[in-house]
Amino acid sequence: MRICRFDDNRVGVVEGDEIVDVSAILDRLPPVKWPYPRGDAFIANLPDLMPEMRKIAADGRRLKLAEVKLLSPVAQPGKIVAAPVNYKLHLEEARADQGIHFGSHVKTIEECGVFLKATSSMIGPADPVVSDRSDRRTDHEIELCFVIGKKARHVREDNALDYVAGFMIGLDMTIRGPEERSYRKSRDTFTVFGPWLVTADEFGDPSAVDFELKIAGQTRQKANTRDLIFDCRKLIAYASEAYTLEPGDVFMTGTPEGVAPVEPGDILNCRIDGIGEMNVAVRAA
Ligand code: MN
Repeated sequence: MRICRFDDNRVGVVEGDEIVDVSAILDRLPPVKWPYPRGDAFIANLPDLMPEMRKIAADGRRLKLAEVKLLSPVAQPGKIVAAPVNYKLHLEEARADQGIHFGSHVKTIEECGVFLKATSSMIGPADPVVSDRSDRRTDHEIELCFVIGKKARHVREDNALDYVAGFMIGLDMTIRGPEERSYRKSRDTFTVFGPWLVTADEFGDPSAVDFELKIAGQTRQKANTRDLIFDCRKLIAYASEAYTLEPGDVFMTGTPEGVAPVEPGDILNCRIDGIGEMNVAVRAA
């Protein structure tokens, strides 16, 4: 199933170039009182909600995808776990380019582990990335992302994918410079998720997936997840050794070679096989 969030926090099932509005499903969410549980209640309840969504979708209101405003498929991630330099060729380009490494030694993911991005940096594909540091190089990073579906700690690699609710495209926008990654990559609008969540049962195996980022028809990044250094399973095992993973947590699996600056006016065309594509605009402040 392909699930999107659109317009004023409505929920849709994507079918071809149409959306079926299944927002009535939100009435099925359990009532909660403060303090609200961390994470995303919709994702946490997804296995129970999906059969009901199919029923509602059978005769629901249909809209053209092109006519709605797509939001991040996940409304309330408790945390965004991101993988640095997780493709070998990107590690090599980062070490070779002063504009990326900024004079510091680029450590491998084995050495530096994962990092967290602020959830306040998250937008959906209909919103523009705001490039507001004209004094700094601001780069695109396309990444396969996945959403945790159930609480997890100390997960083993062999059953790690059992904890994944679904997959989506992500952009890990970055200003280059000497500061910590969490600062440079957590500016407002620097985390884009979309265009929809493809549930794990439909997406299948994430270990050999083609993806590409183009600007003005020109390929900037083109790679396959088979070249990940820490694959999806290993990222879950590695992160869950330190953190409790909760429904709605998002993993950004890292970007391949080809990172390059964006300019206001650019449209980032992002495509991942098995998900689809999204076009994200870059605007000046
Ligand atoms: Mn990244």
